[in-house]
Amino acid sequence: MGVQESYPFDVEAIRADFPILDRKVGGDVETPGEGPEDDTPLCYLDNAATSHTPEQVVETISDYYRGYNANVHRGIHQLSQEASVAYEKAHDTVADFIGASGREEIVFTKNTTESENLVAYAWGLNELGPDDSVVMTEMEHHASLVTWQQIAKKTGAEVRYIRVDEQGYLDMDHAAELIDDSTAMVSVVHVSNTLGTVTPVAELADMAHDHGAYIFVDGAQSAPTRPVDVQEMDADFFAFSGHKMCGPTGIGTLYGKEAILEEMSPYLYGGDMIRRVTYDDSTWEDLPWKFEAGTPSIAQGIAFAAAVDYLEDIGMDAVQAHEELLAEYAYDRLAEFDDVTVYGPPGDDRGGLVAFNLDSVHAHDLSSIVNEYGVAIRAGDHCTQPLHDKLGAAASARASFYIYNTREEVDRLIDALEGARDLFA
Ligand code: PLP
Repeated sequence: MGVQESYPFDVEAIRADFPILDRKVGGDVETPGEGPEDDTPLCYLDNAATSHTPEQVVETISDYYRGYNANVHRGIHQLSQEASVAYEKAHDTVADFIGASGREEIVFTKNTTESENLVAYAWGLNELGPDDSVVMTEMEHHASLVTWQQIAKKTGAEVRYIRVDEQGYLDMDHAAELIDDSTAMVSVVHVSNTLGTVTPVAELADMAHDHGAYIFVDGAQSAPTRPVDVQEMDADFFAFSGHKMCGPTGIGTLYGKEAILEEMSPYLYGGDMIRRVTYDDSTWEDLPWKFEAGTPSIAQGIAFAAAVDYLEDIGMDAVQAHEELLAEYAYDRLAEFDDVTVYGPPGDDRGGLVAFNLDSVHAHDLSSIVNEYGVAIRAGDHCTQPLHDKLGAAASARASFYIYNTREEVDRLIDALEGARDLFA
């Protein structure tokens, strides 16, 4: 079987939808876009940070600005109605994508971080107290770790962290010890953006619910890369970002069970989220608008739905298979180096990313040398500083894959790493 045939879908056809993948890099970065000195083909392996945007989504954005740009929910005129219908329908598309029961459960936010903060402020600040605990994992992204840590400080709640074992798996016995009757919130990452670990969220949801707690699932790395069904996992809240799944920046989602969102107070106040205002008091719009104060990200919301349509045309099972295939291939190729440490579970049991360190080269130097080869990877703590402390690494390099990446690009990464090692030998 040839390389191309062995992918779950036609990767070359997908690549054709992303013109940015054809660009060259290597020149002056003061002028964005391909400049005269750019001569090295781009190999983009930083998708866990931000993915690229296909033509279909770019077109959706320009169609909006060219054809029906107007504020939503406020106008009787035709453009406003067209924008409102498209923006509201985008909520339905996203609801279907994650198995929510309807648009009432889909709040558009700026990103995963804002979704975390929305729940922490609107629910946590009002509901948590000194007798409560919030349980997270040792591999949380700062978006959830810092948010709940700070809300806990304000409310006196205790924060607990479920251990991650040597192999990068969550210690479920420890989870069972930590989640108890004091627990009000369990906030866990679905796919770790550093270890690639896939968290058994449904099992954790059962544990949380057995003790009367809610579960918040950080789906920033899972929603873009695998099928998600919030009802099957029984998540109370689920958050993800458009820009990691072929959509634009500035748009994300907070899913919440309707009954819980109904009970929660708004997080932001202002226009669009009210039903009736007097000088003395105000009442709120129906869900989800109660949580979408002010003019929302209209073009981004509509384009987010176009990104969902794009991924669904490929099929999320196929997207997951492709992610796993490349992660395993990269893991195996990195294992050929005896001076490379790869973090997290084995290659055949992880999401589509690999974080690693080369013994002799700091991750930042490594990233900058592979950049000379046109290879874009991330270096740093990936917003998981406490996890890096635990791993005994100040930083790591991370390659992360998406639908348009190929095995040949993994090979380019490996060649670039060899070049870096030779430079420092
Ligand atoms: N959670 C995880 C696991 C992530 O990987 C990220 C982003 O890298 C976030 C949360 C935050 O996403 P955003 O920056 O889009 O809010």
